[in-house]
Amino acid sequence: MTWTNSKDSALRERAMAVIPNGMYGHQSVMLMPDDYPQFFERAEGAYLWDVDGNRYVDFMCGYGPNLFGYAHPEIDAAYVARLRQGDTMTGPGEAMVELAEAMTRQVSHADWAMFCKNGTDATTMALMIARNFTQKKTIVLARGAYHGAAPWCTPLKNGVTPADRANQVFYDYNDVESLEAAVREAGSDLAGIFASPIKHDTFIDQEAPTPEYARRARELCDEQGALLIIDDVRAGFRLARDCSWSLVGVKPDLSSWGKAIANGHPISALLGADIARFAAATIYATGSFWFSAAPMAASLATLKLIADSDYLERTIALGERLRTGLTEVSGRHGLGLRQTGPAQMPLIMIDEDPTGAKGYFWNNALLKRGVYFHPWHNMFMNTAMTDGDIDHALQAADDAFKLLKAAGPLEPVAKLEFMHAMVG
Ligand code: PMP
Repeated sequence: MTWTNSKDSALRERAMAVIPNGMYGHQSVMLMPDDYPQFFERAEGAYLWDVDGNRYVDFMCGYGPNLFGYAHPEIDAAYVARLRQGDTMTGPGEAMVELAEAMTRQVSHADWAMFCKNGTDATTMALMIARNFTQKKTIVLARGAYHGAAPWCTPLKNGVTPADRANQVFYDYNDVESLEAAVREAGSDLAGIFASPIKHDTFIDQEAPTPEYARRARELCDEQGALLIIDDVRAGFRLARDCSWSLVGVKPDLSSWGKAIANGHPISALLGADIARFAAATIYATGSFWFSAAPMAASLATLKLIADSDYLERTIALGERLRTGLTEVSGRHGLGLRQTGPAQMPLIMIDEDPTGAKGYFWNNALLKRGVYFHPWHNMFMNTAMTDGDIDHALQAADDAFKLLKAAGPLEPVAKLEFMHAMVG
């Protein structure tokens, strides 16, 4: 089938009239290569169909939630059954307790759980609980790490006041000295240290945490009586069947979760250790949809698969097949790729591409061949992908490299320059 985008273009035009800028936030394709569709019709297993009927092997997985394949039969059956019985009610169902039991069983540092809707809800609760626990204000965070879109953490400064960003000190991920310096600057006012499970910032190579950095973060919190918070919203259950820092042997006091915990159904969570239980019980946090039962039922079904299946090994194997294959294909074309991060959450950037133009060209050519990659955000594997899907991506990558080489010098990507200027 030939690739077309007439329906998507028409929808974008209508959206422009009734939605600010036609779309907002991280799923706006305004900053993606030119042909990326904005609107989708359907998703099943490893595939995504846009409104024009073009099918993609989707390596973004909804920006993380799709871990077991879109429209997973067991997970969705649990969701639908609960939906028919009662979903958003005047209070929660039994599933809330069952889910808190299941999450605390699965995540070794956690003694309790609170549920919410978005990752930002969970990270914001973590911030409040750390301040309530210590009765102190200052939060230490890694420079450039994403923790959500509330005024205290949103990457764009429009609409944000200096007061929203008060009492924050920054360090460089994996840099023990800069972490120590930030904690010194916080002085006697340290409430907590936030850390991403891995360095998974956009546009730059991903990094695993060094054990020295992770252990020092724990020690500094212990010395100061502050809380250590792991933001596992994006990587949670993708690296381990436990909190991601179980891989470096460090237990946080709080961890925030979202994305994959219900395979795409809307629910997020904050997990905590006993030490923070009273502080968690005495902040005010709620939302109209936070206690809906159907996403909790979906999450319970997802957690069962997390505990009982080989999903982790499978997504790692798929990621390794992609990584090895891309190294081979790019090598054949004499082009370097930087493939960083865990194989199941890869960030793939073209070497010697300071303006991003090669990456945009290559990703756009992949898209036209039915492969949805991202030029500057880490991607995700899911268990519905097959070796055949990976091989299809490798064939498309090969074709896209040929086109890239034939294209000659490329203009810098104006929209990227604009974005970097805005974020600053
Ligand atoms: N933390 C991390 C590490 C994330 O990746 C995200 C979302 N990309 C968030 C927090 C915020 O989650 P949400 O978009 O669900 O509010």
